[in-house]
Amino acid sequence: MKIVDVVVETFTYKSRIVRDSEGHTHPGPEHDATQTLLRIVTDKGVEGYSFGASPGPIAHLVKPILIGQDPFYRERIWQQLKERQRLNLATLYDGVLAYVDMALWDLAGRALNQPVYKLLGGYRDKVKAYASTMCGDDLPGGLDTPEAYAAFALACKARGYTAFKLHTWQPPMPGAPDVKRDLAACAAVREAVGPDMVLMLDPFHYYSREEALALGRGLEKLGFFWMEEPMDEHSTSSYVWLADQLDLLICGPETAEGKMQTRAEWIVRGAADISRGGVGDLGGITPLMKAAHLSEAFGMRLEVHGGGPGNLHALCAMGISGEFYERGLLHPFLDYEQPPPWLNELPDPMDDQGYVHVSQRPGLGLNINFEYVRAHRVPG
Ligand code: MG
Repeated sequence: MKIVDVVVETFTYKSRIVRDSEGHTHPGPEHDATQTLLRIVTDKGVEGYSFGASPGPIAHLVKPILIGQDPFYRERIWQQLKERQRLNLATLYDGVLAYVDMALWDLAGRALNQPVYKLLGGYRDKVKAYASTMCGDDLPGGLDTPEAYAAFALACKARGYTAFKLHTWQPPMPGAPDVKRDLAACAAVREAVGPDMVLMLDPFHYYSREEALALGRGLEKLGFFWMEEPMDEHSTSSYVWLADQLDLLICGPETAEGKMQTRAEWIVRGAADISRGGVGDLGGITPLMKAAHLSEAFGMRLEVHGGGPGNLHALCAMGISGEFYERGLLHPFLDYEQPPPWLNELPDPMDDQGYVHVSQRPGLGLNINFEYVRAHRVPG
């Protein structure tokens, strides 16, 4: 089998999600938005798919490498793309590698009529989810006060979630960042949901060492499970300093570049208690499984960053590491249970016990509405 074409199709949809000036998502008025479908096409008629890739880097940097290759040589292709990142990192970032790698896994699954997690080596068919909120806002009754977070946590608990993660206020929201306000929101949530619900915090990412320590000590009193990325992750020493002083588990690195090598350095230096990474941070399912096996070898869990089918299939092929699937980002004004128009069903359906079930369809299991994509294509 050979790859004969690599295509990105852009199409339109109506979105109710907007970004603030620093890039955080919030609910907003309905507006036109675009999404993309990456198609890796073979001479045998089998294709692999993923959503979200930018057309430019795929056409200029990825396609020349992929054409003519056997799509089952995922490891070789991934290594070639990784080496091509040198001097091209601005456009060939790890997210691009992730879209390509996921489409190749999807293709393999479709060709072999097996779900991806079973090709990786299946471990389980369902994973506990945590409700992951959007960042704090100033929308009345949204996520604008500690009480609003508490009310939303209760709604998530009623939906079946056994775990809840707050993303608190970040600039440009008025008054953000503020350790005291973060702790007030965390305290209100703990008070509302009681002692048994698992709680995590993902706060502002550029607190000082002293602020991060104060935040961590507050979370210890509230019985939180982990905190992630309270400081710039490029300072590994700051995380060693923080993790040394806290009983609270520190989970990281999440957004720091360097794939599984950075995870290895953090583990060896004791910069975190739980390793972290998702398909988007690491550059696909292929490197996420390397990072998972690395953390397993050190007896550490790796908690997966972000949702979507790539992360879900990887989680269902992990042994000791990776307890939770990140479901979101959620907000009281948005209905997460409604699939986007380009999918006929949700890729991460959750039962009322709080478990997300992986699809048994071939590949990544996406039930794609090709009619919708075709009808809403942007010419180009
Ligand atoms: Mg995070």
